[in-house]
Amino acid sequence: METITRKKLLYRSGLGFMCVNAALGCSHGCRYPCYAFMMGRSYGRTASYEEWCRPKLVSNAAQLLEKELDRLKEKPEVINFSLTTDPFMVGYSEVTAMSLALIELINARGIPVSILTKGRLPGELADRSRFPAENTYGISLASLDEGFREKWEPGAAPYAERIAALRLLHEAGRRTLVHMEPYPTPNIIAQDLGAILEKIGFIDELYFGGWNYNKIATAFPGRGEFYRDQGEIARRFCARRGIDCQTAS
Ligand code: SF4
Repeated sequence: METITRKKLLYRSGLGFMCVNAALGCSHGCRYPCYAFMMGRSYGRTASYEEWCRPKLVSNAAQLLEKELDRLKEKPEVINFSLTTDPFMVGYSEVTAMSLALIELINARGIPVSILTKGRLPGELADRSRFPAENTYGISLASLDEGFREKWEPGAAPYAERIAALRLLHEAGRRTLVHMEPYPTPNIIAQDLGAILEKIGFIDELYFGGWNYNKIATAFPGRGEFYRDQGEIARRFCARRGIDCQTAS
């Protein structure tokens, strides 16, 4: 795997939360499109979609992070993995190993992490002796249809594998999250939200959001009503199961 070095690793995103991105690019190659790819291309950090899908590891990430954590004046409530890449991307064990090492460093200082991946969450994350903080382990999941995944998230892990890895961490007593965004409109794929929710009914937290940056989704007539109805289905499901729920469309 190619590597790069950076001058800074830990930073506060425009959305106000602390993040770590230990790679440039992402093998999942999402076509929603991927906002991080669009930003990377417009700022000249990546030349093409093909280059984006061959990620480069930040080889000095652990050294940078240690220094930056030591210099923090205030302990952050949580550090997020990641905003502009995927911490457990498919096909790159180097990225997984680096992400685990960085999470360990953060947890050792009593700071929890919140993770979101379209890969497979490693079983090691269940280990409280290595990852003692109250972390949140999350997957992105907007469908159960593998045809949809192959079209829109071609390099990401199959849905059943994402859910199975999440369930293992839940069974080990860790806090789990599903980020259901961008949820597709019926002109992209007709699907039953209730059936998807049933598969992940064991989670602690759900975020549900619409698809706001794709012409096909925004052109769907009745889009506002559709997302209001789906949001209501998600909220009712979560209320029945005692799941923390946040919806946005
Ligand atoms: S998983 Fe995230 S970072 Fe990777 S291509 Fe998809 S949207 Fe972009």
